[in-house]
Amino acid sequence: MAEQAEKKHVVVIGAGPGGLTAAMILAHRGFRVTVCEAQPHVGGRNGAIRLGPYTFDIGPTFLMLKDILDEVFREAGGDADKAMDMRRLEPMYRLQYQDKYIETSTDHEKMKSEIARVFPGHENRYDKFFKQEQTRFRYLFPCLQKSYHRFRTMFAPDMIKALPYIAAGKSLFDVMYGIFGNRDLALTFTFQAKYLGMSPWECPGLFSIIPYIEHGFGIYHPIGGLSRISETMADQARANGAEIRLSAPVEKIIVKDRRAKGVRLAGGEVIEADDVVINADFGYAAQNLFEPGVLRKWTPQKLQKMRLSCSIFMMYLGVDKSYDLPHHTVFFAKDYRRNVEDVFHLRDPGTDISFYVRNASLTDPTLAPPGHSALYVLVPVANLRAPVDWAAKRDSFREVVLKNIEERTPMKDIRSHIREEKIIGPREWRDDLNVYEGATFNLAHNLTQMLYFRPRNKFEEVGNCYLVGGGTHPGSGLPTIYESGRIAANLIARSHQVPFVSGNLEV
Ligand SMILES: Cc1cc2nc3c(=O)[nH]c(=O)nc-3n(C[C@H](O)[C@H](O)[C@H](O)COP(=O)(O)OP(=O)(O)OC[C@H]3O[C@@H](n4cnc5c(N)ncnc54)[C@H](O)[C@@H]3O)c2cc1C
Repeated sequence: MAEQAEKKHVVVIGAGPGGLTAAMILAHRGFRVTVCEAQPHVGGRNGAIRLGPYTFDIGPTFLMLKDILDEVFREAGGDADKAMDMRRLEPMYRLQYQDKYIETSTDHEKMKSEIARVFPGHENRYDKFFKQEQTRFRYLFPCLQKSYHRFRTMFAPDMIKALPYIAAGKSLFDVMYGIFGNRDLALTFTFQAKYLGMSPWECPGLFSIIPYIEHGFGIYHPIGGLSRISETMADQARANGAEIRLSAPVEKIIVKDRRAKGVRLAGGEVIEADDVVINADFGYAAQNLFEPGVLRKWTPQKLQKMRLSCSIFMMYLGVDKSYDLPHHTVFFAKDYRRNVEDVFHLRDPGTDISFYVRNASLTDPTLAPPGHSALYVLVPVANLRAPVDWAAKRDSFREVVLKNIEERTPMKDIRSHIREEKIIGPREWRDDLNVYEGATFNLAHNLTQMLYFRPRNKFEEVGNCYLVGGGTHPGSGLPTIYESGRIAANLIARSHQVPFVSGNLEV
């Protein structure tokens, strides 16, 4: 097995979660693997920012479906639990409305009593939610784990069986309001549309599996932060023999006779390859990594027609104080629906914003010195298709965010305690992190941009070229991104007749 694979060289563009998953698995199967990463560190959006004594996660702040991470590590010859100290968060998070808050739990009876406390009389509806969504998850999730490079997969028997569960024509909000019959309670189970960069009122109903996944399987924090997962994956890939080249931006993918033959780095160096895996953001890659005219389908015009996720205005604040605030808190805008529509209908964010504060120092002492906190503040905003001049707006929007924090959280004196600060807004996502239109959660996940209709793991335009990451199938979010890396690794192994053992054989 190793002999066959050793002759094959795979170049992976980008050391984000998708690229690292593919790299560590392929290297374990005996392939020669070279990862070229533009940044001086691994992880991409799942990397770390270190400011003075503070460590922040750039993007992901919790892991769902830990089993998938465990599986991909096993398939790379590693053991995630041995390599990382994973903590299951209980309660999971607090949701703060104007006049009340609710804390969510994976303990069924605790969750019901919390619903009874905040929304009396609605607690038994949680049983219905759990049962209905458990069934939906059982039918739908295996369909997301396959590759859709062939149209016929859309008609595979398990897809047909899953059809009644896709909630066609219904939004996530419709599905949850249908169960809970209370707007604010329904928000508890629909704000998760944000994880896909979508609005609960537009996100397809089938994504009700996301709140189920949280409540059914819990959410995790690795000590050291979520970036530890990427760093540990990189260690595993290196241990398996992969080379990870940092500060090595790829300028172009070399294509001959419509097949990928390697990459050219920004400095001019050419690296030949049998296969190329693209982990760089899909919209950015389609626009920048191919010579003009190579792509016939994913042209700039086609990309402009695709629906995109929202963007995010991020503030990373190192403060010399501890605050009484849970690990994760989401603050809903006064007029949440209007706020969501501003974000998704490409309007200026205004001052009545929704925001999320992560106070991970509460659980994890490695992120800040004793008595200090590494605070992460996330504000969903429109992507760069909106007519907002972020160069002019950045400072005034920082003020809006700080004012909201002062008014709505216990951190009334935050300004006087900020020791370190970094902002990443829509323009920085695009210009510094190569994210197309600053749409941080990639292409939107509407039904016409999913499965066979999303850019495919076996790239449909160029041979020997594979896509991984949030812009391809199954979509944005760590577990599905790990699946994209595993699907690509399996497709590559199969194309070279390299036998492998995988929990996902549906390629
Ligand atoms: C603010 C935020 C919060 C999120 N929170 C969560 C969460 O809590 N849980 C969750 O499951 N998901 C979350 N996500 C979604 C998703 O899991 C992450 O965005 C994830 O990091 C995306 O992984 P990826 O593999 O698609 O690509 P990326 O992480 O974007 O990695 C792509 C890599 O390609 C590199 N690259 C780009 N261009 C080039 C080039 N030309 N040459 C070489 N390298 C290049 C980049 O530098 C980068 O390292 C969040 C995302 C964001 C932005």
